[in-house]
Amino acid sequence: MPSQILHILFAEDIIKQLRPACAGVSVKKIINLAAQGPDIFYHNQRTTPTAFRFGRLLHRSRYGSVLAALVRHAHELRGQAFEEAAGYILGFATHAVLDRITHPYIVAFAGGCYQCHPFFERILDVCMIKELRDAEIGRIDLPSWFPAEGLPESVRNLLIRALNEVYAGAGQPLLPEELGNAVYDALNFYRWTNPAVAETARVLAFKHDRDENGGRRRLALFHPLEDLPELDYLNKEHKTWHRPFIQGAVSSESFIDLYGKALDKGRIVLETVCACLEGKKDAEALETVLGNGNLNGKIDIPVDGPVLSRKDTGLVHRGPEEHFPLSGILDRMYERMAEVHPEL
Ligand SMILES: [Zn+2]
Repeated sequence: MPSQILHILFAEDIIKQLRPACAGVSVKKIINLAAQGPDIFYHNQRTTPTAFRFGRLLHRSRYGSVLAALVRHAHELRGQAFEEAAGYILGFATHAVLDRITHPYIVAFAGGCYQCHPFFERILDVCMIKELRDAEIGRIDLPSWFPAEGLPESVRNLLIRALNEVYAGAGQPLLPEELGNAVYDALNFYRWTNPAVAETARVLAFKHDRDENGGRRRLALFHPLEDLPELDYLNKEHKTWHRPFIQGAVSSESFIDLYGKALDKGRIVLETVCACLEGKKDAEALETVLGNGNLNGKIDIPVDGPVLSRKDTGLVHRGPEEHFPLSGILDRMYERMAEVHPEL
């Protein structure tokens, strides 16, 4: 799935095209955090109890139903609480659209080497912020884009209610402290890997990788700040690649093409979210327009279909011929770090 910065740029790019009544400008930081969608649960690995399972559930199935439940319950809120909930829902909706449309590209080009997938996602962040905003990654102070205090209580309650309703029967319900921990750990992760000041954390990650618990290639979780080898990471040359989830299917789309496609789809989804929030459409319309298939970009299942297991969402095909040499690029980052810090 794309990484944290691209999810924010994407939400921004869609929302600025919406009608002013739906633009949610006053809650921009909440939208930015909401755009991280269920990825916040994946960063919840330090503070227990954790809610990691909700990262998996949301990425596997029923995202459309969760979105509909959020909208339905948001109608019970008023004033500032409604504004914040509406902003959260807009941002949350964008996450699924971008994941689904761009994930096959990431799988196809990252390949299966250890930590290459998250590393490639961060390379795409670097390339896309240059492409879309003409900005350099090293100047991005990511934590300042998020609400320092996390999510408002009314939004947290809304999310807990929607998730427990939709995934009732799919395991333990989400507890308030689990969601609190997930948001806390996610914000910590974004602070820790903040491109503007990540040097200390990178050195520490490098040191950990050298000790007895090492070899986890933690540097893959940081945005590469040094010059990357000049490769066509965005496939601007429209080279043919194999779609990983559909046997025999090929594409020559660039990442920018896919981003454009996601913007088109995202606009339709968010217009529907707005109409539902304004009471002009039933929330169920969101299940149809967003769908309940997984976010890998593989399958669509009916609204009342099953919660998918891991094996249902597995890969059908990988095309090894188009992978970037990410493992080697990572190795060179480690070699450079060893040269600069011979004491570690
Ligand atoms: Zn995701």
